[in-house]
Amino acid sequence: MADTFHIKEDSFWAKLAAKRMKADKMAMVLGTTIHLYNTQPQEFLRNKRWLRHELAHIRQFRQYGWIRFLFLYLVESVRKGYYMNRFEVEAREAEQDPFLEDKYSFIPNFAQSENLT
Ligand SMILES: [Zn+2]
Repeated sequence: MADTFHIKEDSFWAKLAAKRMKADKMAMVLGTTIHLYNTQPQEFLRNKRWLRHELAHIRQFRQYGWIRFLFLYLVESVRKGYYMNRFEVEAREAEQDPFLEDKYSFIPNFAQSENLT
């Protein structure tokens, strides 16, 4: 059975991360939710490499659990920086995995869609 994930648009946390990374657009994962800033779900989901990268982080959250993953991620970032952080290395490798997105199904947030109409 496929794992599920959610998308949070106009996320406060993704906005903070975008500022910190000096990035125009941002996607970041907390648990099973992909937080977006300055990009729409349609644009994000169409970009398979980007989607796979974030799905790899969802897999990491699941593998280690919230507390342990956030702690290990922070330690890696402090010791090696963003790019050489092993969780980022793994996520970049996952961008080439054409089967990764088949293992996850996107559950739209209905409350959010209603606000759009
Ligand atoms: Zn990443």
